[in-house]
Amino acid sequence: MAPTAEPSRRAPDSPLGLDAPVRLRTKDLLSIGDLSPDEILLILDTAEAMKEVGTRSIKKVPALRGHTVVNLFFEPSTRTRTSFEIAEKRLSADTVNVAASGSSVSKGETLADTLRNLEAMSPDMIVLRHASAGAGHLAARLCGACIINAGDGMHEHPTQALVDAFTIRERKGGLAGLRVSIIGDLLHSRVFRSNLRLLRVLGAQVCACGPATLMLPDMERLGVRATTSVDDAVAGADVIMLLRVQLERMRGHFFPSRREYFQRFGMTMARLRRAAPDAVVMHPGPMNRGVEIASEVADGSRSVILEQVANGVAVRMAVLYLLAGSRRGAAPGGPALDGGSGWDRAGE
Ligand code: ASP
Repeated sequence: MAPTAEPSRRAPDSPLGLDAPVRLRTKDLLSIGDLSPDEILLILDTAEAMKEVGTRSIKKVPALRGHTVVNLFFEPSTRTRTSFEIAEKRLSADTVNVAASGSSVSKGETLADTLRNLEAMSPDMIVLRHASAGAGHLAARLCGACIINAGDGMHEHPTQALVDAFTIRERKGGLAGLRVSIIGDLLHSRVFRSNLRLLRVLGAQVCACGPATLMLPDMERLGVRATTSVDDAVAGADVIMLLRVQLERMRGHFFPSRREYFQRFGMTMARLRRAAPDAVVMHPGPMNRGVEIASEVADGSRSVILEQVANGVAVRMAVLYLLAGSRRGAAPGGPALDGGSGWDRAGE
Protein backbone atom coordinates (compact mmCIF):
# COMPACT_ATOMS: atom_id res chain seq x y z
CA MET A 1 0.00 0.00 0.00
CA ALA A 2 1.30 3.46 -0.82
CA PRO A 3 2.37 5.64 2.08
CA THR A 4 -0.12 8.37 2.89
CA ALA A 5 0.33 11.82 4.26
CA GLU A 6 -1.22 12.58 7.63
CA PRO A 7 -3.85 15.25 7.07
CA SER A 8 -5.35 17.02 10.02
CA ARG A 9 -8.76 15.55 10.72
CA ARG A 10 -9.66 17.77 13.63
CA ALA A 11 -13.03 19.47 13.55
CA PRO A 12 -13.64 20.96 16.97
CA ASP A 13 -17.40 21.27 16.54
CA SER A 14 -18.04 17.50 16.15
CA PRO A 15 -18.60 15.50 19.36
CA LEU A 16 -15.18 13.86 19.15
CA GLY A 17 -13.37 16.67 17.38
CA LEU A 18 -13.37 14.60 14.16
CA ASP A 19 -14.61 15.50 10.71
CA ALA A 20 -15.15 11.93 9.50
CA PRO A 21 -17.88 9.34 10.06
CA VAL A 22 -17.21 7.90 13.52
CA ARG A 23 -17.19 4.26 12.57
CA LEU A 24 -15.23 1.67 10.67
CA ARG A 25 -16.36 -0.12 7.52
CA THR A 26 -15.64 -3.57 8.92
CA LYS A 27 -17.45 -5.53 11.60
CA ASP A 28 -14.21 -6.98 12.96
CA LEU A 29 -10.61 -5.93 13.54
CA LEU A 30 -8.54 -8.99 12.69
CA SER A 31 -5.55 -7.51 10.90
CA ILE A 32 -4.08 -4.11 10.06
CA GLY A 33 -4.92 -4.98 6.45
CA ASP A 34 -8.63 -4.66 7.38
CA LEU A 35 -8.16 -0.91 7.82
CA SER A 36 -7.87 1.75 5.13
CA PRO A 37 -5.28 4.51 5.71
CA ASP A 38 -8.16 6.88 6.60
CA GLU A 39 -9.55 4.43 9.14
CA ILE A 40 -6.11 4.10 10.75
CA LEU A 41 -5.95 7.88 11.13
CA LEU A 42 -9.51 7.90 12.44
CA ILE A 43 -8.55 5.41 15.16
CA LEU A 44 -5.46 7.42 16.12
CA ASP A 45 -7.42 10.69 16.23
CA THR A 46 -10.23 9.09 18.22
CA ALA A 47 -7.66 7.70 20.66
CA GLU A 48 -6.54 11.27 21.38
CA ALA A 49 -10.07 12.13 22.48
CA MET A 50 -10.20 8.92 24.52
CA LYS A 51 -6.94 9.79 26.22
CA GLU A 52 -8.52 12.97 27.49
CA VAL A 53 -11.26 10.90 29.17
CA GLY A 54 -8.48 9.16 31.12
CA THR A 55 -7.34 12.50 32.58
CA ARG A 56 -10.73 13.29 34.11
CA SER A 57 -11.42 12.73 37.78
CA ILE A 58 -14.24 10.37 36.79
CA LYS A 59 -12.79 8.37 33.93
CA LYS A 60 -16.01 7.09 32.45
CA VAL A 61 -18.35 7.91 29.56
CA PRO A 62 -21.58 6.10 28.66
CA ALA A 63 -20.67 5.41 25.02
CA LEU A 64 -20.98 1.60 25.24
CA ARG A 65 -23.65 1.42 27.93
CA GLY A 66 -25.74 -1.70 27.36
CA HIS A 67 -22.98 -3.41 25.30
CA THR A 68 -21.63 -6.74 26.44
CA VAL A 69 -17.96 -7.43 25.70
CA VAL A 70 -16.39 -10.86 26.28
CA ASN A 71 -12.62 -10.98 26.74
CA LEU A 72 -11.65 -14.50 25.66
CA PHE A 73 -7.95 -15.13 26.28
CA PHE A 74 -6.40 -18.52 25.55
CA GLU A 75 -2.82 -17.26 25.98
CA PRO A 76 -1.23 -15.37 28.87
CA SER A 77 -1.60 -11.59 28.84
CA THR A 78 -1.05 -8.77 31.29
CA ARG A 79 -1.09 -5.50 29.34
CA THR A 80 -3.48 -6.34 26.51
CA ARG A 81 -6.15 -7.99 28.63
CA THR A 82 -6.02 -5.39 31.38
CA SER A 83 -6.07 -2.47 28.97
CA PHE A 84 -9.02 -3.89 27.05
CA GLU A 85 -10.89 -4.39 30.28
CA ILE A 86 -10.13 -0.89 31.55
CA ALA A 87 -11.07 0.53 28.13
CA GLU A 88 -14.40 -1.34 28.17
CA LYS A 89 -15.17 -0.13 31.68
CA ARG A 90 -14.29 3.47 30.81
CA LEU A 91 -16.83 3.22 27.98
CA SER A 92 -19.43 1.74 30.41
CA ALA A 93 -19.65 -1.65 28.65
CA ASP A 94 -20.53 -4.79 30.61
CA THR A 95 -17.44 -6.99 30.52
CA VAL A 96 -16.97 -10.71 31.01
CA ASN A 97 -13.54 -12.32 31.23
CA VAL A 98 -13.00 -15.90 30.12
CA ALA A 99 -9.56 -17.48 30.54
CA ALA A 100 -8.69 -20.82 28.95
CA SER A 101 -7.75 -22.43 32.26
CA GLY A 102 -11.15 -21.73 33.80
CA SER A 103 -13.20 -22.51 30.68
CA SER A 104 -14.55 -25.69 29.11
CA VAL A 105 -11.59 -25.69 26.70
CA SER A 106 -9.70 -27.39 29.51
CA LYS A 107 -12.40 -30.12 29.32
CA GLY A 108 -11.80 -30.70 25.62
CA GLU A 109 -14.25 -28.28 23.99
CA THR A 110 -13.14 -26.94 20.59
CA LEU A 111 -12.63 -23.24 19.94
CA ALA A 112 -15.53 -23.31 17.47
CA ASP A 113 -17.90 -24.77 20.07
CA THR A 114 -16.75 -22.30 22.72
CA LEU A 115 -17.44 -19.46 20.28
CA ARG A 116 -20.86 -20.82 19.28
CA ASN A 117 -21.83 -21.06 22.95
CA LEU A 118 -20.69 -17.55 23.73
CA GLU A 119 -22.48 -16.26 20.62
CA ALA A 120 -25.69 -17.89 21.87
CA MET A 121 -25.58 -15.41 24.79
CA SER A 122 -25.57 -12.47 22.32
CA PRO A 123 -22.44 -10.54 23.25
CA ASP A 124 -21.83 -7.42 21.18
CA MET A 125 -18.07 -7.89 20.97
CA ILE A 126 -15.52 -10.60 21.62
CA VAL A 127 -11.87 -9.75 22.22
CA LEU A 128 -9.96 -12.92 21.34
CA ARG A 129 -6.40 -14.04 21.96
CA HIS A 130 -5.44 -17.50 20.78
CA ALA A 131 -2.26 -19.43 19.96
CA SER A 132 -3.46 -20.29 16.44
CA ALA A 133 -3.07 -17.91 13.52
CA GLY A 134 -6.49 -17.28 12.00
CA ALA A 135 -8.47 -17.90 15.21
CA GLY A 136 -10.04 -14.45 14.85
CA HIS A 137 -11.10 -15.19 11.27
CA LEU A 138 -12.85 -18.37 12.44
CA ALA A 139 -14.59 -16.39 15.18
CA ALA A 140 -15.67 -13.69 12.72
CA ARG A 141 -17.28 -16.33 10.50
CA LEU A 142 -19.10 -18.01 13.40
CA CYS A 143 -20.22 -14.97 15.37
CA GLY A 144 -22.41 -11.97 14.76
CA ALA A 145 -20.49 -10.17 17.52
CA CYS A 146 -17.62 -7.86 16.50
CA ILE A 147 -14.36 -9.78 16.86
CA ILE A 148 -11.21 -7.96 17.91
CA ASN A 149 -8.00 -9.89 17.43
CA ALA A 150 -5.89 -9.46 20.56
CA GLY A 151 -3.13 -11.68 19.13
CA ASP A 152 -3.48 -14.85 17.03
CA GLY A 153 -0.37 -17.00 17.16
CA MET A 154 2.42 -15.59 15.01
CA HIS A 155 -0.02 -13.82 12.71
CA GLU A 156 -1.12 -10.37 13.96
CA HIS A 157 -1.72 -8.16 16.97
CA PRO A 158 -3.35 -5.13 15.33
CA THR A 159 -4.18 -3.11 18.44
CA GLN A 160 -0.54 -3.29 19.61
CA ALA A 161 0.61 -1.82 16.29
CA LEU A 162 -2.01 0.94 16.62
CA VAL A 163 -0.75 1.66 20.16
CA ASP A 164 2.81 1.85 18.85
CA ALA A 165 1.86 4.18 15.99
CA PHE A 166 -0.10 6.39 18.40
CA THR A 167 2.89 6.58 20.76
CA ILE A 168 5.33 7.39 17.95
CA ARG A 169 3.00 10.03 16.53
CA GLU A 170 2.58 11.60 19.96
CA ARG A 171 6.36 11.75 20.47
CA LYS A 172 7.45 12.64 16.94
CA GLY A 173 4.43 14.46 15.51
CA GLY A 174 4.03 11.98 12.64
CA LEU A 175 5.44 8.83 11.11
CA ALA A 176 6.11 9.78 7.49
CA GLY A 177 9.83 9.52 6.75
CA LEU A 178 10.78 8.32 10.24
CA ARG A 179 13.46 5.63 10.48
CA VAL A 180 12.07 2.82 12.60
CA SER A 181 14.33 -0.12 13.46
CA ILE A 182 12.66 -3.25 14.77
CA ILE A 183 15.11 -5.58 16.47
CA GLY A 184 14.58 -9.06 17.89
CA ASP A 185 12.69 -12.26 17.20
CA LEU A 186 10.99 -11.20 13.99
CA LEU A 187 10.01 -14.69 12.89
CA HIS A 188 7.68 -15.46 15.79
CA SER A 189 6.34 -11.95 16.33
CA ARG A 190 2.77 -10.99 15.54
CA VAL A 191 3.66 -7.50 16.77
CA PHE A 192 6.27 -7.27 14.00
CA ARG A 193 3.84 -8.38 11.30
CA SER A 194 1.16 -5.86 12.35
CA ASN A 195 3.70 -3.07 12.80
CA LEU A 196 5.31 -3.72 9.46
CA ARG A 197 2.00 -3.20 7.69
CA LEU A 198 0.99 -0.18 9.70
CA LEU A 199 4.33 1.62 9.64
CA ARG A 200 4.53 1.27 5.87
CA VAL A 201 1.00 2.63 5.40
CA LEU A 202 1.96 5.65 7.51
CA GLY A 203 5.12 6.21 5.48
CA ALA A 204 7.88 5.17 7.92
CA GLN A 205 11.09 3.56 6.67
CA VAL A 206 11.40 0.21 8.41
CA CYS A 207 14.64 -1.64 9.13
CA ALA A 208 14.38 -5.13 10.62
CA CYS A 209 17.23 -6.73 12.52
CA GLY A 210 17.73 -10.06 14.25
CA PRO A 211 19.63 -13.32 13.99
CA ALA A 212 19.39 -14.85 10.50
CA THR A 213 17.53 -17.78 12.07
CA LEU A 214 14.80 -15.43 13.36
CA MET A 215 14.22 -13.47 10.14
CA LEU A 216 11.26 -13.91 7.81
CA PRO A 217 12.04 -15.20 4.34
CA ASP A 218 11.98 -12.53 1.61
CA MET A 219 12.26 -9.56 3.96
CA GLU A 220 13.21 -7.16 1.17
CA ARG A 221 10.06 -8.12 -0.76
CA LEU A 222 8.07 -6.95 2.28
CA GLY A 223 9.56 -3.49 1.79
CA VAL A 224 11.90 -3.64 4.78
CA ARG A 225 15.64 -3.22 4.95
CA ALA A 226 16.94 -6.34 6.70
CA THR A 227 20.23 -6.65 8.55
CA THR A 228 21.82 -8.95 11.12
CA SER A 229 23.99 -6.10 12.46
CA VAL A 230 22.49 -4.22 15.39
CA ASP A 231 24.99 -1.39 14.98
CA ASP A 232 23.82 -0.97 11.40
CA ALA A 233 20.14 -1.07 12.41
CA VAL A 234 20.55 1.45 15.23
CA ALA A 235 22.69 3.98 13.29
CA GLY A 236 20.59 7.13 12.85
CA ALA A 237 17.29 5.46 13.85
CA ASP A 238 14.49 7.69 15.16
CA VAL A 239 12.63 4.81 16.79
CA ILE A 240 14.05 1.56 18.11
CA MET A 241 11.46 -1.11 18.72
CA LEU A 242 12.67 -4.19 20.56
CA LEU A 243 10.89 -7.52 20.38
CA ARG A 244 10.94 -10.32 22.90
CA VAL A 245 12.62 -13.60 22.12
CA GLN A 246 9.53 -15.85 22.00
CA LEU A 247 10.89 -19.04 23.49
CA GLU A 248 7.38 -20.47 23.88
CA ARG A 249 6.95 -20.56 20.09
CA MET A 250 10.36 -22.05 19.30
CA ARG A 251 10.84 -25.68 18.38
CA GLY A 252 14.59 -26.27 18.50
CA HIS A 253 17.49 -23.89 18.95
CA PHE A 254 17.58 -20.58 17.10
CA PHE A 255 20.59 -19.10 18.94
CA PRO A 256 23.23 -20.54 21.27
CA SER A 257 22.20 -18.97 24.60
CA ARG A 258 20.42 -15.93 26.05
CA ARG A 259 23.78 -14.55 27.12
CA GLU A 260 25.10 -14.68 23.57
CA TYR A 261 21.87 -13.24 22.24
CA PHE A 262 22.30 -10.24 24.53
CA GLN A 263 25.91 -9.81 23.45
CA ARG A 264 25.01 -9.79 19.73
CA PHE A 265 21.52 -8.23 19.71
CA GLY A 266 20.74 -6.79 23.15
CA MET A 267 20.06 -3.04 23.32
CA THR A 268 22.68 -1.41 25.51
CA MET A 269 23.43 2.25 26.23
CA ALA A 270 26.57 1.96 24.09
CA ARG A 271 24.55 0.78 21.10
CA LEU A 272 21.80 3.33 21.69
CA ARG A 273 24.34 6.17 21.31
CA ARG A 274 24.47 5.41 17.58
CA ALA A 275 20.78 6.30 17.17
CA ALA A 276 19.40 9.79 16.44
CA PRO A 277 19.91 12.09 19.45
CA ASP A 278 16.17 12.16 20.19
CA ALA A 279 15.51 8.50 19.38
CA VAL A 280 12.91 6.67 21.48
CA VAL A 281 13.05 3.06 22.62
CA MET A 282 9.90 0.92 22.51
CA HIS A 283 8.96 -2.61 23.57
CA PRO A 284 5.49 -4.17 23.47
CA GLY A 285 6.21 -6.16 26.65
CA PRO A 286 6.75 -8.41 28.39
CA MET A 287 10.45 -7.46 28.45
CA ASN A 288 13.26 -9.87 29.13
CA ARG A 289 15.85 -7.67 30.79
CA GLY A 290 19.37 -8.79 29.97
CA VAL A 291 18.20 -10.62 26.84
CA GLU A 292 16.79 -8.15 24.29
CA ILE A 293 17.21 -5.02 26.43
CA ALA A 294 19.55 -3.82 29.19
CA SER A 295 17.84 -2.51 32.30
CA GLU A 296 19.52 0.88 31.95
CA VAL A 297 17.90 1.27 28.52
CA ALA A 298 14.51 -0.05 29.65
CA ASP A 299 14.43 2.39 32.56
CA GLY A 300 16.35 5.19 30.82
CA SER A 301 15.21 8.59 29.56
CA ARG A 302 14.75 7.39 25.95
CA SER A 303 12.35 4.63 26.93
CA VAL A 304 8.66 5.18 26.11
CA ILE A 305 7.72 1.66 27.12
CA LEU A 306 5.34 2.69 29.89
CA GLU A 307 3.84 5.37 27.64
CA GLN A 308 2.95 2.55 25.24
CA VAL A 309 1.16 0.81 28.10
CA ALA A 310 -0.69 3.97 29.10
CA ASN A 311 -1.71 4.64 25.50
CA GLY A 312 -2.98 1.08 25.19
CA VAL A 313 -6.14 2.01 27.09
CA ALA A 314 -6.96 5.03 24.89
CA VAL A 315 -6.30 3.21 21.62
CA ARG A 316 -8.40 0.22 22.67
CA MET A 317 -11.20 2.56 23.76
CA ALA A 318 -11.08 4.06 20.26
CA VAL A 319 -11.22 0.66 18.56
CA LEU A 320 -14.13 -0.52 20.73
CA TYR A 321 -16.03 2.71 20.20
CA LEU A 322 -15.55 2.80 16.44
CA LEU A 323 -16.41 -0.88 15.97
CA ALA A 324 -19.56 -0.37 18.02
CA GLY A 325 -20.44 2.41 15.59
CA SER A 326 -19.91 0.11 12.62
CA ARG A 327 -22.06 -2.59 14.20
CA ARG A 328 -24.97 -0.21 14.61
CA GLY A 329 -24.42 1.33 11.19
CA ALA A 330 -24.06 4.70 12.82
CA ALA A 331 -24.72 7.81 10.85
CA PRO A 332 -21.85 10.18 10.13
CA GLY A 333 -21.09 12.10 13.29
CA GLY A 334 -20.87 9.05 15.50
CA PRO A 335 -22.81 6.28 17.15
CA ALA A 336 -25.76 7.37 19.20
CA LEU A 337 -24.38 8.26 22.58
CA ASP A 338 -27.62 7.83 24.43
CA GLY A 339 -29.26 11.17 24.38
CA GLY A 340 -26.86 12.84 22.02
CA SER A 341 -24.69 14.57 24.57
CA GLY A 342 -23.81 11.33 26.36
CA TRP A 343 -20.16 11.79 25.59
CA ASP A 344 -19.93 14.56 28.13
CA ARG A 345 -21.93 12.92 30.86
CA ALA A 346 -18.97 11.51 32.67
CA GLY A 347 -19.51 9.08 35.46
CA GLU A 348 -23.02 7.98 34.67
N1 ASP B 1 2.69 -8.99 24.19
C1 ASP B 1 3.04 -9.17 22.80
C2 ASP B 1 2.22 -10.28 22.18
O1 ASP B 1 1.30 -10.77 22.80
C3 ASP B 1 4.50 -9.35 22.60
C4 ASP B 1 5.14 -10.54 23.24
O2 ASP B 1 4.46 -11.38 23.83
O3 ASP B 1 6.34 -10.65 23.12
O4 ASP B 1 2.48 -10.65 21.06
